[in-house]
Amino acid sequence: SDTKVVLDHDDVRRTLVRIAHEIVEKNPQATADDLALVGIQRRGAVLAARLHRLLGDLLETEIPLGEVDIAFYRDDLGRAGRAEAPVLHSTKLDFDIDGRTIVIVDDVLFTGRTVRAAIEAIFDYGRPARVQLAVLADRGHRELPIRPDYVGKNLPTSRSERVDVRVTELDGVDEVAIREQ
Ligand code: 5GP
Ligand code: MG
Repeated sequence: SDTKVVLDHDDVRRTLVRIAHEIVEKNPQATADDLALVGIQRRGAVLAARLHRLLGDLLETEIPLGEVDIAFYRDDLGRAGRAEAPVLHSTKLDFDIDGRTIVIVDDVLFTGRTVRAAIEAIFDYGRPARVQLAVLADRGHRELPIRPDYVGKNLPTSRSERVDVRVTELDGVDEVAIREQ
């Protein structure tokens, strides 16, 4: 099938460095006490771990890092629209959510349903001061009023295209490509 690389290894590295700086700029008071990252499994969690290291260097302190695992399941109720609903699998949030700025991190933003489920999961644990969203790629086609605060790359795609995200930790290479499926 047709594949076009849109971010190579260096682009991905530079993009994450830029997003880390943007997080610090947008949250000038940021310390380990009022900021935290929450990655969405699996590749969002890998990216969150990288941002965690970069922010540790910038802030000279370690901020909390958590993750949520959200999977799509067939919605047998046969609602109109998408036949799959996001379901929370597991969470690892072993820090105090209350009053914090939580930055959710994912690889690709599409309809927004996964992020909505992640926000709900976080609110089950406490009351954050605010929730922000960082994504490596925004491919459009939103079905909910959700927009990212930090975007690696806007990738307007057709519904028949997919964004392939590869990360070294899982795939042996850092790369973002658009693939016609
Ligand atoms: P949404 O819930 O916004 O419809 O979809 C976002 C979630 O599905 C993200 O966790 C993302 O990993 C995955 N996803 C949706 N579309 C794509 C895509 O084109 N490529 C990849 N790699 N993941 C996608
Ligand atoms: Mg995902």
